[in-house]
Amino acid sequence: MTLKLTVDGDRWRAHLRSVVDEIPGLVPVAKGNGYGLGIARLARRADWLGSDVVAVGTYAEVPEIASRYRGDMIVLTPWRPPAVGRSEPDLPTDLADRVIHTVSRPSDLGELLARQPGARVVLERMTSMRRHGLSAEELWALAGLARNRARLEGFSIHLPMGEHGANLAEARRLMTDIIGAGAADGATVWVSHLTPTELATLRSEYADLTIRPRIGTALWLGDRGALRVTSTVQDVHAIDRGDTYGYRGRHALRPGHLVVASGGTAHGLGLSAPTGESSLRARASAAARGGLDAVGVVRSPYLLDGMQLFFAEPPHMQASMLLLPHGATAPEVGDELEVRVRYTTTTFDEIALD
Ligand SMILES: *Cc1c(COP(=O)(O)O)cnc(C)c1O
Repeated sequence: MTLKLTVDGDRWRAHLRSVVDEIPGLVPVAKGNGYGLGIARLARRADWLGSDVVAVGTYAEVPEIASRYRGDMIVLTPWRPPAVGRSEPDLPTDLADRVIHTVSRPSDLGELLARQPGARVVLERMTSMRRHGLSAEELWALAGLARNRARLEGFSIHLPMGEHGANLAEARRLMTDIIGAGAADGATVWVSHLTPTELATLRSEYADLTIRPRIGTALWLGDRGALRVTSTVQDVHAIDRGDTYGYRGRHALRPGHLVVASGGTAHGLGLSAPTGESSLRARASAAARGGLDAVGVVRSPYLLDGMQLFFAEPPHMQASMLLLPHGATAPEVGDELEVRVRYTTTTFDEIALD
């Protein structure tokens, strides 16, 4: 009775190996729900890949990665002083030596160094994302201090998910700021969301710098054919027109079947399928069309023999009720339905990886 992710292990590992071979200097990103696979599994894979450094999302994730992987960890969430009244334990020394902090505000560097003299740091330059980062002036001002009192491990830029090739101009501007802050001769610049072509261009233009791309999605989820998500059919009920069903006592508009399948809000399943029709515009036009959306019937991410099923009502905690139209062959209890999920928001009951 599970929402299950089945991974073709050989195919997945071959994909990981080929991405790492194609993109030298790649930094695997292991954070959050581990792109559906769990960060512990990604940590072991990064070790197997021989990565010298892994990017983790938060400090809380460090121990889980550190025990399964031998290299360094760069924490993507910028360091902040512990909040007043909250005592955050410092990292144990053996771990502290393996952790590279991201510094994104001028005042944080001094505070970090007061707690951990000689800490390893990268300075993050603000990008058009406007999430975290230093201005060009702040970067210039801070780079000297970082060189003298910290172990400066380079500079970081987090670019938006650019349309194909759209990030190069911005990356160049930011590289100018980074060079202005004194980066030279092998200094490392950690980047995200550059296409392979943009990365190659940047590397040839700044050949004296080391550019290291942080990559998560295209690495772990880059070969979707290696991944299969299935749900177990838990119950099937024939219904007639007018029959009531569900938490809200809805009435069936036509005869057919109700299919109860594993997978619900606890797994991160939302109301709409994550692919295809998920754009705002598509949803707006679906709403404008009236139709099924208007009576609260929404496409689900569940497929039966390739046919996309409709939700009978919004997903429950651990199961979903689906509507099978009249005439379609009903599945049997225990059968599996394919499910299209957004991996970064899905928690699986079981992951089978050979
Ligand atoms: C998540 C993240 C990445 C990786 O993004 P993907 O789209 O999964 O490759 C890179 N850099 C930063 C700062 C991130 O937070």
